[in-house]
Amino acid sequence: MSFNSLGLSTALLKAISKQGYTTPSPIQQKAIPLILEGKDVLASAQTGTGKTAGFTLPMLQKLSQGQHMRKRPIRALVLTPTRELAAQVHNNVKAYSEFLDIRSAVIFGGVNQRPQVATIRNGVDILIATPGRLLDLENQGLLSLAKIEILVLDEADRMLDMGFLRDIKKVISLMPARRQNLLFSATFSKEIKDLANTFLHHPVLVEA
Ligand code: AMP
Repeated sequence: MSFNSLGLSTALLKAISKQGYTTPSPIQQKAIPLILEGKDVLASAQTGTGKTAGFTLPMLQKLSQGQHMRKRPIRALVLTPTRELAAQVHNNVKAYSEFLDIRSAVIFGGVNQRPQVATIRNGVDILIATPGRLLDLENQGLLSLAKIEILVLDEADRMLDMGFLRDIKKVISLMPARRQNLLFSATFSKEIKDLANTFLHHPVLVEA
């Protein structure tokens, strides 16, 4: 199995090879084609399985296929439980989008919001965020989720453990109903299944 058979663009294959990856991991082999098809995906995957590339690569491909609107509204949102994970996902997105015309930004709490706001104002296609700072900036009218096409909940179980359920529901209420949803979680508690049932649309279950 090689990355060439997954349906990814030449620009993404170039970035993948620059990372030194030769073979897609099991979660990547399963999730990438489904995400490219536009399916909602419910994935059980631990850190270290390559899950980040598993959702980032097809997300980048879908966004780069679409038309860029002049003002670059945020079209994809990745929610993460912690700032460390947000920064890590952003680093992945930056590396894989090197040969694409895609802009991304990361926002999280505990630091001054001004540089984050300035970056968003310039126009970003993909935003990686922790829930609190995201809602904070949205409340201030400094960003809009009205044009979101793809939502990723990364480490959803940790987000629930940290008490972010209400925030997640609020974030979802601010987005268009018609969008693609991806939920990644290391564990599948009843709470995760309930969350998946409330916002995923006929999800395909994928296990690493
Ligand atoms: P993750 O599970 O997303 O945190 O990824 C774990 C590590 O695996 C990261 O350092 C990635 O850069 C790396 N990685 C992801 N996909 C591959 C792959 N197909 N081949 C080799 N390494 C990979």
